[in-house]
Amino acid sequence: MTEEFFRIAVVGTGPAGLYAADELVQQDRIPVRVDLIDRLCTPFGLVRYGVAPDHPRIKSVTGALSTILEHPLVRFLGGVELGSDIGRSDLLACYDAVVYATGLAADRPLGVPGEELPGSHSARELVSWYSGHPDAAQPFSLDAERVAVVGAGNVALDVARILTKPAAALSYTDMPEPVLAALRASAVREVTVIARRGPEHTRFTTKELRELDTLDGVSIRVPADETLPASDTVAERSVRANLALFEKWSGVPAGERTITFRFWRRPIEIRGEKAVRELVLEHTALDDTGQLVATGGTETLPVGVVLRSVGYHGMPIAGLPFDRSRGVVRQHAGRIVDEEGRACSGEYVAGWLKRGPSGVIGTNRADSADTIAALLDDLSTSGGPRAVRSLDDLLARNGSRPVPLSGWRAIDSREIALGAEAGRDRIKITDWSVLRTLGAHEAPTPVVSNYGRE
Ligand SMILES: Cc1cc2nc3c(=O)[nH]c(=O)nc-3n(C[C@H](O)[C@H](O)[C@H](O)COP(=O)(O)OP(=O)(O)OC[C@H]3O[C@@H](n4cnc5c(N)ncnc54)[C@H](O)[C@@H]3O)c2cc1C
Repeated sequence: MTEEFFRIAVVGTGPAGLYAADELVQQDRIPVRVDLIDRLCTPFGLVRYGVAPDHPRIKSVTGALSTILEHPLVRFLGGVELGSDIGRSDLLACYDAVVYATGLAADRPLGVPGEELPGSHSARELVSWYSGHPDAAQPFSLDAERVAVVGAGNVALDVARILTKPAAALSYTDMPEPVLAALRASAVREVTVIARRGPEHTRFTTKELRELDTLDGVSIRVPADETLPASDTVAERSVRANLALFEKWSGVPAGERTITFRFWRRPIEIRGEKAVRELVLEHTALDDTGQLVATGGTETLPVGVVLRSVGYHGMPIAGLPFDRSRGVVRQHAGRIVDEEGRACSGEYVAGWLKRGPSGVIGTNRADSADTIAALLDDLSTSGGPRAVRSLDDLLARNGSRPVPLSGWRAIDSREIALGAEAGRDRIKITDWSVLRTLGAHEAPTPVVSNYGRE
């Protein structure tokens, strides 16, 4: 008798998808096989293409995540995009349950005139470029002396740091050589980080702020006209620590390269004839009800690049019920629900696509565990596996060849070898065709057990 097992698709191989797969294969309530599907030829999502290249300790979580990919009950199917190569109905026909963990691929706009001018970008675009994402526009122009970064979270600090740090201090990273060359030739001298509220309201973590103090040859300054609340008047420890840093940087003069913090300002227009030349800011304050309001004052910042870092946002995916205002999939305890709150049978969500862009990498573990707990409750009372079709057949019919784990290993080895030639741990490969060629290995062994019912 053939062993029966539930076939689960996890779409997205960032931390949320990988932790979801781990939860599935580590439990013993029901027998499962897990297909991990990603549109990229490479796993790890934003750990590979978001976490800053000069934070290798954080990136090293890929070591632990790799053991999940290696599990015998898990298959990696890279280069398979939900929405183009396969659809939601294909997944529902081929699997007993589907976990969507595709993250958030869009960014919030500022919603101001001039946002479409050349030189106005999202921080995500810059991050994708310096992280060697195969979809990133090449090259990224760094010929402006002044850059504005709009936003008050750690991604804003990442981009400010990468743009001002001496390129020599980045030459050990996995950045592609053209990126390092562009950073070496960069004209950027000053990055102004703009927060619409006060220094006590920012979402910077103290560790990332403090790191700025260690940058060689970079002045960190808060202009003397900024009013800073005294740090010892604030109860929350992390805010107190941030304020102490801002106090320390208050009135520091600009240097050869400078990061400047500006508070209580928000953009109202980006100006320029053919490209960004100025960013117009209005001054803000909190009114008696705690609402952010304009005070009437404005100022103009001469800048050649504006980077918005005001949050990642999801795009409606494959017809799943979507909360447009929050930019996430509608769900309850990880079960995808329609507008009336009815569960979409067999469909689950995890990670940023479920809860929005919050938390650290580890937050996704507990989040995925909650989702998988709901999935296991449902499947263990479902009466047994019922998926009838084979994704492998479907992909073969469409002429799609997924990148298996051995294909990812080949890409990984080539990147490590490229790095070794240059005295680095790794150099990222950015070219889709090279990634696909390296990843083109034998198709992974299909899971056969339930196909007999077709
Ligand atoms: C710039 C930046 C820096 C960060 N730095 C840190 C840090 O230093 N420390 C930290 O703890 N956290 C950091 N984070 C947060 C961390 O990266 C996230 O918590 C985490 O990656 C979210 O995981 P996820 O799996 O939900 O999404 P993601 O990591 O985005 O993974 C989603 C996956 O889905 C795939 N996918 C998308 N669409 C499709 C589709 N249609 N079909 C198939 N596959 C698809 C993508 O290719 C990707 O592999 C950072 C985030 C950003 C943006």
